[in-house]
Amino acid sequence: MLPRLLSSTALALLATGLVNHASPAPASMPTPRLTITHEARSLQPGELVVLIIESDTALSTIAVTAFDRTERVQPLPPSEDRPHAWLALVGIDLDVRPSTHRISVSATALTGTAAATHTLAVSAKSFPTRKLTVDPGFVNPPATVTARIQKEAVILNALWKGTAGPNPATDLAFVAPVPHKANSAFGTRSVFNGQPRSPHGGADFLSPAGAPIKAPAPGTVVLADDLYYTGGTVVIDHGLGIISLFAHMSRMDAMVGTTVARGDVLGLVGATGRVTGAHLHWTVRVNGSRIDPLSLVAVLSGNQTR
Ligand SMILES: [Zn+2]
Repeated sequence: MLPRLLSSTALALLATGLVNHASPAPASMPTPRLTITHEARSLQPGELVVLIIESDTALSTIAVTAFDRTERVQPLPPSEDRPHAWLALVGIDLDVRPSTHRISVSATALTGTAAATHTLAVSAKSFPTRKLTVDPGFVNPPATVTARIQKEAVILNALWKGTAGPNPATDLAFVAPVPHKANSAFGTRSVFNGQPRSPHGGADFLSPAGAPIKAPAPGTVVLADDLYYTGGTVVIDHGLGIISLFAHMSRMDAMVGTTVARGDVLGLVGATGRVTGAHLHWTVRVNGSRIDPLSLVAVLSGNQTR
C-alpha cells in the first residue's frame, strides 16, 4: 500500500523548515534535477495523492501547483539515500473531471532553477445514490435559520483553507477515529425526503451513541460548536492543509485553541444535526479538496480500510 520510504518518514515527520542540508552542488551541474513520484490508493475523485519530490541538490525554494492551486510543501527528514526530498499532499476533489491532470513543480537552488511536471491520469468513479428520511427542517430549513446556516457556512469555508503560513504537519500517521465500520461510501449522492442534496462529503462510521471519538492524528482544535447540519462539531487542523471535521457529537470534549495528540478523546458519538440515527461522520479536506477520509488513513498509515 505504502512504500517503505514514505511510511517510515510519515510516522515521525519532523517539521524542519526549508533548510539546506548539504553543501552546494558542483559547478558542472547547471540546475537542480527533480524527480517526482506519487502514491495513492487510486487516481479517482475523492482520493488523496502523496507527492514526493526529490532533488539532487539542496533547494532554497520549491512550489507545487495542482488543480489550479498552490499546494503546501514540507521537507522530509533527510536520509542517506534521499538527502533532499519534499512532501506535498494533493487531494483529487470530488468534482475533478476524469482526464490527465498536470502537477507543476518549480524550484530554485544555488546552482540555478528547475521546473518539472508530473501527470495524474484521473479515472471516472461512479457514486451510488442513497435515500434518507430526516426531519423536514433539515431538507428545507425554515427562514428563521437561514442566517445561521449562512454564517456557519462562512466559518467552515474559512476553516477549510487551514491555518495561514507554512503550518507543517508534525505527524502524518493517521488512524481511524473510532474502531467501528464505515458504512456509506464517500461521494454518495444523497436524496433527503425525495429531494437531491449535495454529495456526501465524508465517511460515516456505524458507531453506537456514547462511543469516544479519538483524534486520528495530532493537530489544533479550531472549532468546537453546535452547528445546524452537523450538530455537535469539532474541527481539527492537522497541518499541511489537512482539516478534519467530526459531526453529530452528543458531547464535545475538545476545546478551541488547544492541541490534541493522536488518540485524545474529542467527544462522544451522538445523533445531533441532520441525521437518521447515531453515527460518526468524519469529513476531511486537503487544501480545500474534498477527499475520502478512508483514503487518507489508507495512504498515510497503510491501515486496512473498506
Ligand atoms: Zn455523513
